[in-house]
Amino acid sequence: MSRWISESLYEDYRQGFKAGDVLFEEKTEHQDLIIFENDFFGRVMMLDGVTQTTDRDEFVYHEMISHVPILAHGAAKNVLIIGGGDGGVLREVLRHQDVQCTMVEIDASVVEMSKKYFPDHSAGAFDDSRCHLVIADGLKFVKETEDRFDVIIVDSTDPIGPGEVLFTSEFYKDCQRCLTEKGILVTQNGVPFFQGDEVTTTQERMSPHFADMNFYVVAVPTYVGGFMTLAWASNDPAARKQPIEVIEERFKAAGFDTNYYTPGVHVGAFSLPRYIEKLIK
Ligand code: SAM
Repeated sequence: MSRWISESLYEDYRQGFKAGDVLFEEKTEHQDLIIFENDFFGRVMMLDGVTQTTDRDEFVYHEMISHVPILAHGAAKNVLIIGGGDGGVLREVLRHQDVQCTMVEIDASVVEMSKKYFPDHSAGAFDDSRCHLVIADGLKFVKETEDRFDVIIVDSTDPIGPGEVLFTSEFYKDCQRCLTEKGILVTQNGVPFFQGDEVTTTQERMSPHFADMNFYVVAVPTYVGGFMTLAWASNDPAARKQPIEVIEERFKAAGFDTNYYTPGVHVGAFSLPRYIEKLIK
């Protein structure tokens, strides 16, 4: 009999994966971590019963959460990642040659198990001399650091368990303090078809601290429910509205290929479907 592993994110709806080998299943210091094989998606990671990443579709999310803010900024040198223990965002961020990256992940086990079972996610990025890995709570880090960042990317779990603090007004305020003048904050903000409240509450908590705050969208197959939103905040309103010609020029200069991200997708991602716009006050 095959074992089916279901996500337990929503009360009334579930996606399930037919599991082949279960490679790792343990309670870490912070959360329940399971890594298993699925014939279609390859390796799958869940934390506290919620899908985090799969080999097959990881590129969609990792490209969009990384390249949109970095290319919109145009001159990012220091990037901070909060969370992101699987290394997928780190890999994409370090494709930008001029960038140094600090990554603050609360759970060392996620990093270690991802290096072992998802080697293509980080693709050697943890060994890059431009990567500075800190094992700590992201909330505490942004409260205390003296460093300043051009881009902050919050690749967090959902607002349950250790990720909850990364959806608070206090955290957003401290992120603002850590950004350079034209800095950009981008955060994982759930799938609004199911988690509409997250759009409304994030807007309420984040917008008071920034001159410009909004959302952009990306459709990740295993974050079921259509588009997910990524929250966007900056004190430079122009960054969100860069003309496509500017983004095209910067992407060409960056000199790498992608599988989801294009300058057209970048600009179009800020046009929100009406049901998402209606969640924004
Ligand atoms: N892309 C995934 C998603 O959207 O659901 C997130 C993947 S990544 C594995 C999420 C990471 O955030 C986990 O490794 C988790 O340990 C980390 N995390 C959760 N709370 C944190 C906190 N307070 N500080 C730093 N990292 C945190």
